[in-house]
Amino acid sequence: MSAQSIDAGLAFDAAHIWHPYSAMHSDLPVYQVASASGVRLRLADGRELIDGMSSWWCTLHGYNHPRLNQAISDQLESMAHVMFGGLTHEPAIRLVEKLVALTPPGLESVFLADSGSVAVEVAMKMAIQYWNARGKPDKQRFASLRNGYHGDTLGAMSVCDPVTGMHSLFNAVLAPQFFVDAPRAGFASNCSDEDIQPLQTLLQHNHEQIAALILEPIVQGAGGMRFYSPEYLSRARDLCDRYQVLLIADEIATGFGRSGKLFACEHAAVSPDIMCIGKSLTGGYLSLAATLATRAVSDGIDAGDPGIFMHGPTFMANPLACAVANANIELLLESDWQRRVAHIERQLELLLSPCRNMPQVAEVRCLGAIGVIEMKQAVDMATVVPLFVEAGIWVRPFGKLVYLMPAYIISDEDLGLLCSRLTDIVAQLVD
Ligand SMILES: *Cc1c(COP(=O)(O)O)cnc(C)c1O
Repeated sequence: MSAQSIDAGLAFDAAHIWHPYSAMHSDLPVYQVASASGVRLRLADGRELIDGMSSWWCTLHGYNHPRLNQAISDQLESMAHVMFGGLTHEPAIRLVEKLVALTPPGLESVFLADSGSVAVEVAMKMAIQYWNARGKPDKQRFASLRNGYHGDTLGAMSVCDPVTGMHSLFNAVLAPQFFVDAPRAGFASNCSDEDIQPLQTLLQHNHEQIAALILEPIVQGAGGMRFYSPEYLSRARDLCDRYQVLLIADEIATGFGRSGKLFACEHAAVSPDIMCIGKSLTGGYLSLAATLATRAVSDGIDAGDPGIFMHGPTFMANPLACAVANANIELLLESDWQRRVAHIERQLELLLSPCRNMPQVAEVRCLGAIGVIEMKQAVDMATVVPLFVEAGIWVRPFGKLVYLMPAYIISDEDLGLLCSRLTDIVAQLVD
């Protein structure tokens, strides 16, 4: 593309198009992408960037994958979409067969939603309808962890971290929920009694009002990129059972291998009552998510009043999205993903470790195909993102966090380039 037409497009974008969590008139640059393949984004001006973000946890097998492209074009031959009320189709049936087989035991009733936030809304509504059917209509509130992130719609926002989620701004419309401090015990640590105590106390005193505890198992993503003790998760499961509170596992970011296990709940051998998945479900191709529940939950909802589950998106179970999700999961299972993700974890550990000695860095932590550099000060996006782009990498920090979550297919060479260019730039960021 000519420099002139790129500039005209960017000027229009700046005047009229909102980007995620951005001002309409912003000093932050946006870059026009012309195409993407494998782990490379090609900008309209011809520059190539090695992608460190997987488009926010999504592209497991890289961009423009022939098998995923084929799945969509094959499905397009028969139908792009059909309503799901009273109708069903093979792509959805095949997908749900896989999801039931692969997710932790007991999750057998599946609701296909169209985005992660919607899957969280659906999970919350399931929990409320379940308890109402069980004769406990007062159980309508939720317990959640600080530093959590569960999406941007109002119900999902109400269970996000109250500070980073700007609850004060929306206080009249957000349902008040219960929060406990996130566990301090890291991934490799045991969970002390002190760490679990706040949750124990909260449930003990408020379980009559609490429908469910919602959390991101093991990895708290957008609320701080923190990894915590599997023992905390298993103790939380026990507390939920003891106090008759459902456990909702939000695996939208962690699902499909990102933390080293297919689902992060497996680190603690925990089965939730309700689980949300999304993001990488379609390998980064189309928006699709799912909420899975146990039979106990779905039977409960069926037996209650009004005897139906009260949700039904227009684009529920979109066949194109289901078809590409099927191909994505098949590709993952055919691959040696477990070894690959373990290898990426070791490489990230090794290649990001020089940052540990930098005075501006507070901590470096890696788990699965996730590498996090936590700075002491928030990074200035307006300076740092252009530096990354000039160096030929795509990394988008937030706050103090500079992090990588590459596609599982990234080569050692590209991962090496990504990490060395990143550490060089982090080295320049003096406070
Ligand atoms: C991204 C995310 C969501 C929201 O998903 P959207 O598709 O952006 O609506 C919810 N929970 C977690 C853990 C996420 O990472």
